[in-house]
Amino acid sequence: MKEAIGRHSSMKYRNLGKSGLRVSCLGLGTWVTFGSQISDEMAESVMSMAYEHGVNLFDTAEVYASGRAEVTLGNIFRKKGWRRSSFVVTTKIYWGGQAETERGLSRKHIIEGLRGSLSRLQLEYVDIVFANRADIISPMEEVVRGMTFVIDQGLAMYWGTSRWSAVEIMEAYSVARQFNLIPPVCEQAEYHYFQRDKVEVQLPELYHKIGVGAMTWSPLACGLITGKYNDGIPQSSRASMKGYHWLKERVSSEEGRRQLAKIKELHMLADRLGCTAAQLAIAWCLRSEGVSSVLLGVSNTDQLLENLGALRVLSQMSPQTVNEIDCLLGNRPHSKKECRA
Ligand code: NAP
Repeated sequence: MKEAIGRHSSMKYRNLGKSGLRVSCLGLGTWVTFGSQISDEMAESVMSMAYEHGVNLFDTAEVYASGRAEVTLGNIFRKKGWRRSSFVVTTKIYWGGQAETERGLSRKHIIEGLRGSLSRLQLEYVDIVFANRADIISPMEEVVRGMTFVIDQGLAMYWGTSRWSAVEIMEAYSVARQFNLIPPVCEQAEYHYFQRDKVEVQLPELYHKIGVGAMTWSPLACGLITGKYNDGIPQSSRASMKGYHWLKERVSSEEGRRQLAKIKELHMLADRLGCTAAQLAIAWCLRSEGVSSVLLGVSNTDQLLENLGALRVLSQMSPQTVNEIDCLLGNRPHSKKECRA
């Protein structure tokens, strides 16, 4: 994957999958934070800082804060007046509203959902529209035709999948080739120390075979990896927010406690390398083959500044360091024997 360094920062740019679109290897996400956890003023400061540091990728979804994340993002774009051609906006369609027809990936909801997103974002088009879903309730041909239509109409430049299995992505690709439609360019997948197989095993194969890249999310496992939950749930954290009880439960579960023990060890490794646990974790995601961009989530500018520092740590991701992390985690796909040896 060809990489270039930004002119005004140490940001690196990569092709999105095998498409020609150049995205910053760190993108900014808006889940939980924009239109909800953080004020509009903080959202603007975070966006400005990201853009000034070379981030050109901003991710949102119609479902985030019931559309308010898109509204906040759109207001900031308008206020800042950045050249539209200088940044990439991605949104996700699936959970639009309460009515049965306002959800899913029917042709109707793909088109109406995306039009709704564009109106909230105050944009003429998004760069990538993702089919965001947990299950298949629409025929694949309808999904691929719907995505091709919105691209042909100029409402989006590319389309991608989010939380799809490798088999589903392959099916979308085959349908696109069979009917001369447009195939997806990338998959949004969860990727961090404790969630590895899909991004490390399945997606590289898809990348080589059909050019689908990986845009990964939750690099800090919702904040867990920073170590902020080591001694309980801080008041101002995501896990203490209304509606995020599942995260609180995950942190205090047996599995969560096992993960926290590993996080403490990873902290010591980060100390030794002269970086923070968050920077190490993000750099570790960036080292993975086929990862075009890692989406960051932050609730303030200090966190963003710290996380952007992961770019400096990337050069320290030597095979020895990666191996040390693998042995600490003990979950490298297909490598359990190696680590025991
Ligand atoms: P994450 O990096 O796993 O978690 C971000 C949260 O961790 C922050 O909001 C903050 O929460 C805490 N944090 C971040 N940096 C920190 C630091 N340096 N020190 C201490 N705490 C820190 O990322 P994520 O927000 O879950 O995911 C990133 C983006 O991926 C989302 O915004 C969204 O755009 C995208 N995403 C996509 C999907 C999908 O289905 N396609 C799913 C999830 C996310 P607190 O300050 O509240 O503790």
